[in-house]
Amino acid sequence: MSQTTEQKFLELLKEQSSYGEAIGLMAWDMRTKAPRKGIEGRSEVIGVMSQKVHEIQTSDEMRQYIDELKKKDLDPILKRAVEEAEETYNKTDKIPTDEYRAYVTLQTKAESMWGEAKSNNDFESFRPYLEELVEYNRKFADYWGYENHRYDALLHNYEPGVTVEVLDEVFPKVRKALSALLQQIKEAPNQPDPSVLKGHFPKDRQAEFSEVILERMGYDFEAGRLDETVHPFAIGLNTNDVRVTTKYDEKDFRTAVFGTIHEGGHALYEQNIDPKLAFTPLADGTSMGIHESQSLFWENFIARSEGFWRNHYELFKNYAPEHFQHLPLEKFYPAVNEVKPSLIRIEADELTYCLHIMVRYELEKALIAGEIEVKDLPELWNQKMNDYLGVTPESDAEGVLQDIHWSGGDFGYFPSYALGYMYAAQMNAKMRDEIDVDRYIEEGDFQKIKEWLTENVHQYGKMKKPLQILNDVTGEGLNPDYIISYLTNKYKKIYQF
Ligand code: ZN
Repeated sequence: MSQTTEQKFLELLKEQSSYGEAIGLMAWDMRTKAPRKGIEGRSEVIGVMSQKVHEIQTSDEMRQYIDELKKKDLDPILKRAVEEAEETYNKTDKIPTDEYRAYVTLQTKAESMWGEAKSNNDFESFRPYLEELVEYNRKFADYWGYENHRYDALLHNYEPGVTVEVLDEVFPKVRKALSALLQQIKEAPNQPDPSVLKGHFPKDRQAEFSEVILERMGYDFEAGRLDETVHPFAIGLNTNDVRVTTKYDEKDFRTAVFGTIHEGGHALYEQNIDPKLAFTPLADGTSMGIHESQSLFWENFIARSEGFWRNHYELFKNYAPEHFQHLPLEKFYPAVNEVKPSLIRIEADELTYCLHIMVRYELEKALIAGEIEVKDLPELWNQKMNDYLGVTPESDAEGVLQDIHWSGGDFGYFPSYALGYMYAAQMNAKMRDEIDVDRYIEEGDFQKIKEWLTENVHQYGKMKKPLQILNDVTGEGLNPDYIISYLTNKYKKIYQF
């Protein structure tokens, strides 16, 4: 008997996701265990296999199956898989092949030029590449199409459904509230003392604590593993193989503790996607922002809470240097929640992090709209940092050149970080209406919390779009009040104002 179109389509998707899994495994290996000399060759292999994925996604065969299946009455999973495959097909199809090739070459070149420019603190040497990248992104956005703002077409790649209109409504509210809060914190009488957290934390003890915490979160070590890397990440090869990495700083335990929990939040998402979606493009997080909501939920709303440390501080002391035995929780908890405006986004605390994102969002939106030019960036960057955070970079290396994103042509990505935080705050409030979150945190029993997230978010993979998930979970659209009230209440208590 010959195969139906449904079967042939699913087989093609399986081929595509198999290449994806192989690429993922090689990428994990390159970033964790691979010998240094093997890296260059391995990158080439990844390049060849990525090309194969691209060919499948844009093949005539794929187009034919999409067209045939669109006419049929399909089950919900197949229907969404067809939509997803069509979106990918169209996205690539709208860009002329020669322009796409030139862009890929430019990306690679620009990334290495950025690396050099950053270490030499030399924006000028990177400027021409960034100008070209911006130009391409403007052009691609026009090919893809948009209704109101050209930048919407780029946002769509990371956070489908979110537009400039949405962001311009909520971001300024968050920015103003956080700036005011920051001012109150600076003037507050009770300032935490982070120097009490100093000490020597042996790597193996940190690794043991990280494992205990991941277990407690419900991370399945039978379907994953924990390794050490310079830049922590989580990677889902399939739902039964989701790996986490972390970084151990022997002088500062916070890097590994909060880093592991953050990546663990990403991993729980991938481990708990409905197995029925396996081997389709739907077996993945639905957007950058929803993914980040899961990691930030665990990192901030759980692991930076007072209840968490009331339960885990005794356990933590088993793995910490001697002097923590005499450090009371009343000093420890505020210290791990210190707010301090800094120049570098990835070192930012829970409160000022969003302000770093606002700086980037406003600049890249204006760039893509053609309202500002690349040459204006360093000055505008410094000005906004001063306006929003009250700190001014002394060099472009710790200013406009600090992040890799733009050098890879990733415009429209940054807002996902702040959105993830806002989604997490909104879900956190809803979860608290439904289950006794504080009690579970204090008891160190996260089972119900994990189940709530799986039921409301994880299982769906890409079956639902980000704002649909938010709406279904919380009964409303994006609402900035949740993040504002969460941070206000928390820091009023810590800083006592
Ligand atoms: Zn993350």
